[in-house]
Amino acid sequence: MTIAANVPHLSADIRHNWTSDEVQQLFSMPFNDLLFKAQTVHRQYFDPNEVQVSTLLSIKTGACPEDCKYCPQSARYDTGLEKERLLEIEKVIERAKEAKATGSTRFCMGAAWRNPRERDMPYVTKMVEEVKKLGLETCMTLGMLSREQAIALKQAGLDYYNHNLDTSPEFYGDIITTRTYDDRLNTLQNVRDAGMNVCSGGIVGMGESASDRAGLLIQLANLPEHPQSVPINMLVKVEGTPLDNVDDLEPFEFIRTIAIARIMMPASHVRLSAGRENMNEQMQALCFMAGANSIFYGCKLLTTSNPDTHEDVLLFKKLGINAERTRDFSDEAHEQALQEEIAAQPSAADLFYDATATKTPSVTEV
Ligand code: SF4
Repeated sequence: MTIAANVPHLSADIRHNWTSDEVQQLFSMPFNDLLFKAQTVHRQYFDPNEVQVSTLLSIKTGACPEDCKYCPQSARYDTGLEKERLLEIEKVIERAKEAKATGSTRFCMGAAWRNPRERDMPYVTKMVEEVKKLGLETCMTLGMLSREQAIALKQAGLDYYNHNLDTSPEFYGDIITTRTYDDRLNTLQNVRDAGMNVCSGGIVGMGESASDRAGLLIQLANLPEHPQSVPINMLVKVEGTPLDNVDDLEPFEFIRTIAIARIMMPASHVRLSAGRENMNEQMQALCFMAGANSIFYGCKLLTTSNPDTHEDVLLFKKLGINAERTRDFSDEAHEQALQEEIAAQPSAADLFYDATATKTPSVTEV
């Protein structure tokens, strides 16, 4: 049997009409066939040896009124988390500079809010403006956004807005009751309409079924536009949250979810997100093989831990992976690019020959 015959009728086209049957079929494929397909699709859209690197900073921690059962930042669960007020802009800039120095190209700022209040908007828009000046891509996750707030963030220069769908619509009510699935879809719509890139994914390992994992990916892939970034998180169980004792997800099932996200959203960055600290190097390598091409650098992911930057650098070295570069939008970078362009221009002497000169250059002299 040929390889193609082993792989169901799939192409790497951008599609928005995935059916449940098709995705279930993908989940049932032999592991090696699935990884081969995912890697093939990945290579059509990306350099397989490049991974985009982001840093995530919590700009306001804890005391969130929402009841997301996985989250230590919800005010409803006693997790011993220390609350923090909105960080000062100077501190955010400092952390963004550190992130840039360690190779991050995108700086994500997260606040534990149901939604930003109007009085918070001048601060968060200022943060975006300042981080942007450093030449970093900017991303925020602040909860639900109105149309006007999305426009204000876009105007401040925000490149990405993160708002996860978390899980399938069917399982959603078991995890969150304080906002609806439609609320989330509306925020994504507002972000898209404002012209920002969407970062949206979910969490697996929360006790959901395989069809819920398929359902989440179908929701994401069948959006009017694929999210440009798709974080796939493995639940980090935090003591005090209702999901503290949920059964572990089989690691191969996690890798399959990454591979299927890659196949269904071929041009999106699929981010190997929370839970990476509990994955050994081999598992992370398989996730990259399955098409993950984005990670968070830095020892903290909002409130849960993440591998040390040093370990990530070593892993990249072992795997021959390079950090994806991004365009530097800062004034200094622009000035430098301009200077380089001017320096590269041929001089007048290179462009014209002196017709008054008596000697015509011979072929060997040119
Ligand atoms: S996930 Fe976000 S919205 Fe939900 S409780 Fe945590 S901080 Fe609040």
